[in-house]
Amino acid sequence: MKRTTRLGIMGGTFDPIHLGHLVAAEEALVQFNLDSVCFMPTGRPARKDDRAVTSPEHRYLMTVIATAANPDFDVSRLEIDRPGLTYTVDTLRVLRETHGPATELFFITGADAVWEIVTWKEAESFRDLATFIAATRPGYDLQTAREEHAEELARIRIEFIEVPALAISSTDIRQRVVERRPIRYLVTESVAAYIRKYELYQEAR
Ligand code: NAP
Repeated sequence: MKRTTRLGIMGGTFDPIHLGHLVAAEEALVQFNLDSVCFMPTGRPARKDDRAVTSPEHRYLMTVIATAANPDFDVSRLEIDRPGLTYTVDTLRVLRETHGPATELFFITGADAVWEIVTWKEAESFRDLATFIAATRPGYDLQTAREEHAEELARIRIEFIEVPALAISSTDIRQRVVERRPIRYLVTESVAAYIRKYELYQEAR
């Protein structure tokens, strides 16, 4: 009998995608015995509508070239092609319907404020849709966050992974480009070349 497929969905703005994201996805793949990880760049991030975000097409293409060499990774256009603001609940519903009950969904994302996931649109549905995997940065006080927000976190299925490589951040990379400082070894060579070619992140936001 075929076992259930375990599909990871790596949700993020990826502005730009960096090595921390790739390490986090690989770590989730191995730790949670996932069959594959599908990167899901957000279209119009629900909570960032009022500030500049690089065009979805650039963020999508950078994600494609950064992940192309890994046979366990692929990239979806689902969110960038969907009109309106991007809500995770809509994505999870589509994936649930497309893949059916034989596929278990794991939504991997960053964890600056993990308990905030329960404030996302229709978060009460999350328990039936997916397990969340929250990737934390070095220095993030996971123990305190878990204790102080135990009640909120109990409303969703959530697991945590610590990813030292998440010391790298998209905000820092954008700032480095503005200041003409190096981004080599923080992003793949292909993404660095793409940023140069299209002159992304030249000015401070
Ligand atoms: P964000 O607030 O920009 O990022 C939160 C933190 O997590 C940042 O430090 C970010 O670092 C990091 N991060 C983001 N995605 C990550 C990933 N996949 N793996 C590891 N670290 C990650 O978050 P965002 O990118 O806008 O949103 C993350 C995901 O949550 C997206 O899929 C988004 O659609 C979803 N979301 C949904 C709702 C909703 O449905 N209402 C609301 C908010 C977010 P970097 O900047 O270095 O990536």
